[in-house]
Amino acid sequence: MSKQRRPQAYYDDIKTRFKVERDLRLDERPPGTEQYTSEFTGGLARYAVDPHAGEIENRDPIEDTVEVLFIGGGFSALLTSARLREKGIESIRIVEKGADVGGTWYWNRYPGVACDVVSYDYLPLLDEMDYVPVNHYSRGPEIYSHCQAIARKYNLYDLAVFNTTVINTVWDEDDALWHVETDRGDRMKAQFVICANGTLSKPKLSKIEGMTSFKGHSFHTSRWDYAYTGEKLENLQDKVVGIIGTGASAVQIVPELGKSAKELYVFQRTPSSIDVRDDWPTDPNWARRLRPGWQATRREKVLAAVERSPEQQGRLDAMSPEDKLREQENQNIDYMMRIHRRIDEIVKDPETAQALKPWYMFMCKRPCFHNEYLPTFNLPNVHLVDTHGKGITQITEQGPVFEDKLYEVDVLIYATGFEVQQTGIYNNIVGRGGLNLSDKYTDGIRTVLGIHTAGYPNLFIMGGYQASFQFNLTDMLQTQGDHIAECIDYVRRNGYHSLDPTDEAEEWWVQEVIAHRGKTSRNQDCTPGYYNFEGAQNRRQDGNYNGGFRRYFRHQRGVRERIADNFVLR
Ligand code: NDP
Repeated sequence: MSKQRRPQAYYDDIKTRFKVERDLRLDERPPGTEQYTSEFTGGLARYAVDPHAGEIENRDPIEDTVEVLFIGGGFSALLTSARLREKGIESIRIVEKGADVGGTWYWNRYPGVACDVVSYDYLPLLDEMDYVPVNHYSRGPEIYSHCQAIARKYNLYDLAVFNTTVINTVWDEDDALWHVETDRGDRMKAQFVICANGTLSKPKLSKIEGMTSFKGHSFHTSRWDYAYTGEKLENLQDKVVGIIGTGASAVQIVPELGKSAKELYVFQRTPSSIDVRDDWPTDPNWARRLRPGWQATRREKVLAAVERSPEQQGRLDAMSPEDKLREQENQNIDYMMRIHRRIDEIVKDPETAQALKPWYMFMCKRPCFHNEYLPTFNLPNVHLVDTHGKGITQITEQGPVFEDKLYEVDVLIYATGFEVQQTGIYNNIVGRGGLNLSDKYTDGIRTVLGIHTAGYPNLFIMGGYQASFQFNLTDMLQTQGDHIAECIDYVRRNGYHSLDPTDEAEEWWVQEVIAHRGKTSRNQDCTPGYYNFEGAQNRRQDGNYNGGFRRYFRHQRGVRERIADNFVLR
């Protein structure tokens, strides 16, 4: 670990500045998630329309029974299905809102879309698919194609139903099946239902006064309108473009818009931290030498790397909690100041450079990695409108207004993100005794491993709260998919029909989640964002499991090893 080279006062001053900047943000908007809406009705309905679906054909409602039904067709469904197929399960249906599998990578096709996690770790089932990604970091189209290839290899298209949204999922005690209704009039039944609807899938918009009065064109980043912009953004050459938001989506889009638009206005509320993106084409010699099982081995190594050596652990154990926290925070600040220096080196206009500096601890917000984002602000047609934590609060027929200045734009792009980790998006889940899942959660989320919840037999949740958080989400999803496949296999092999966690198992997990949350005031100290519920207070159990990924993984195994104790099996 590095030695502290600066006086503590230096770090304390920066921490004070972090607080000031956070308060700027907290003072300016309706609190918490209230500032956003994802209910796209009335004048907002067009923001939900799928631009990729084309004409949706009429079809007869489906009334049949399958063994396993996935709500959502992204990575969660695909990687779990692969494991289910390996265990001999034939009747698998994906019900998906989009017109194909892919989830995130189906919807997000904006210019510049790519993944910030190293491709060899991020793309699931590389061994099984005998595929090596073409670059160190994959672009969106490659990942989307990989999703489609998985669906083909595991015959998931056979029973899949697209352009269809599940609206009701109700446990029927008489036939001990889930009854699933959709917006297309389907009444399907399934023995097992897996909520694979993604962690960030329902787009949200900032509630801005006058937004529906805007007379120009507008859309959300996850519904990119290529019919308007042109496939290569060639139609934007004579257009003034505005983009609201500077999160991970905008960071990838802005460089593309900067190259194509006549003028570009970037409306910023809080800057992202932007580090180097160390990309390169995959070395074909390296790819040729990979042995079967290489991705699993690689993942093991990545996990082992985060384990502390005995020396590191010993040193930490010898420190007081205060010293430990101080050292951690100071290292974090050193990193963020390097991010600041990088901005000064790249961005020519000092005022713009100042405005692009993020004043918060690393990982308070989702970090970004891009080599072209910062240089884009040196282009003469690109203008940063820094709203100093206030955000855009008014839009007129001509465009956004900030501090009484109207920014007239032809097109306005909302890069305002997604609803976070909701289990029943679009969908009403009703378990035993007619209890709605959201009612069950009134006093706090209650699950085992974030996957099972008592009273909802044979229902599995992927990517929800009370599960571990991983920057490489597919790693976490793969452990969940493996766990779910093992559970379903156990039920089938042992002549049972259903499994439902016991209340004791659920209480154990809720307490385990609580025990690992809220040890520091970090959540409150961070500038608001979706990582900390937009700065709102929340119950300690209503978040991710913070006990670490390895421990989460061990708990999954432990739950399965004592499956007969942890579940009511019928
Ligand atoms: P985010 O939620 O990260 O960002 C939303 C942005 O909108 C923030 O900058 C927010 O500001 C801003 N905003 C909201 N309301 C206003 C307003 N009224 N005026 C001005 N700005 C406003 O959404 P993204 O779509 O960018 O990213 C979502 C997540 O998706 C990422 O965090 C990441 O997990 C994933 N993703 C991953 C990618 C990758 O791998 N590279 C690429 C894209 C997305 P403020 O910060 O102040 O709240």
